[in-house]
Amino acid sequence: MKQADNLLSFLKRLFNSLVTSGCRRSHDEDTNRKIVVINLFAIVGMSITLILGIRALFAGQTILGIVLLTSSAMFGLCKAILLHSRLKNSHVITPVLLVFSLLLLMLYLVIFGGVANTGPLWIFVLPPVAMFFAGVFYGVLTIGIFITLCAIILFTPGDILLLASYPYEFKVRLLLSFATVTFLSAFYEHSRQTSFIIIRDISEKFERQALYDALTNLPNRRGIQKFIDHEINRARRQQEDLTLVLCDIDRFKQVNDNFGHDGGDIALKHVAGLFKEAIREQDGVARWGGEEFLFVLPTTNESNGVVLAEKIRETLQSTPVQINNTSLTITASFGVAQIHLENSLNNALSLADKALYRAKEKGRNKVLSASSLTS
Ligand code: GH3
Ligand code: MG
Ligand code: MG
Repeated sequence: MKQADNLLSFLKRLFNSLVTSGCRRSHDEDTNRKIVVINLFAIVGMSITLILGIRALFAGQTILGIVLLTSSAMFGLCKAILLHSRLKNSHVITPVLLVFSLLLLMLYLVIFGGVANTGPLWIFVLPPVAMFFAGVFYGVLTIGIFITLCAIILFTPGDILLLASYPYEFKVRLLLSFATVTFLSAFYEHSRQTSFIIIRDISEKFERQALYDALTNLPNRRGIQKFIDHEINRARRQQEDLTLVLCDIDRFKQVNDNFGHDGGDIALKHVAGLFKEAIREQDGVARWGGEEFLFVLPTTNESNGVVLAEKIRETLQSTPVQINNTSLTITASFGVAQIHLENSLNNALSLADKALYRAKEKGRNKVLSASSLTS
């Protein structure tokens, strides 16, 4: 039982690694899905043409056998290119190669007829494959060229371009049904692409909503977390300083009481705009809670963090906001704490919070550092 499970999971992993070769994290989801289908198509195409090619050779149909084996080799080449993961544009080269090989194989089958003149039946594989790999525009273009070539081959007087013989009715219906399948495939691919774009846009919108605060356009707690983690790792790796500044607007309840909630929102937007402008390019600022903000200052020690916070405090104090034609001066209190190797993020946050609390106690509109609490 266990052996069967092991075998099953081995086969699963083998299948996964076979169909996902060439997929990259840097590609978008649609491109990676395309690469999986190219892999599948190359494997299936290679196997079928190999079997049919060997069969044709044994049946004495040498040319058909050679053509099928050449196609099998072309499909195999696509798979090999995808396996060679260092090739950057493998997902662009392989579909072109696949569609081109398929197109040549189909033309051959139409001209030569294949086994008992059933070769043309395979051409219906072409539209969905071309649309999926090349997109609607290039897909329709490719199929348009193919239909034109087929029409020339099938309807040249005297059948001089044909080595197989088909009834006239068969030729007409073959092209008409092929055109219908092409139309349906193009329509399907167009709908698929449109749905993909809609879903991608919605998911980007939700992702943004989850990470950014709608009122101030600043990252929220979740939004800044990735930046904090990244900066903590970098600071540890490169032994650099990293400082947090927690900020809380002073007597904000009064703003709401005097100007209403909408007035409060105007004030919050004003503060957020000033904060965004005041920080350096490498810094981050987030809306940490209601009227609390968090600054993340890479390559900055605590005393430099105090200098920066002081500068921000002064800017805020000297830039009043206009609410309902009233000029209102807003102030805030700041708590500064450096993240040291030995203290965690939560530790530094709690130190910054304590310093902020002390700044409030000391009369507000002040900057205090965590180290000043102990000294
Ligand atoms: P302190 O100086 O001690 O910080 O005084 P404060 O009035 O700012 O005290 P507190 O932190 O308790 O009050 C914060 C207020 O911020 C309460 C809450 O109604 C308001 N607030 C929180 N989020 C929003 C918001 O999105 N919009 C508005 N208008 N007000 C908000
Ligand atoms: Mg508060
Ligand atoms: Mg407050």
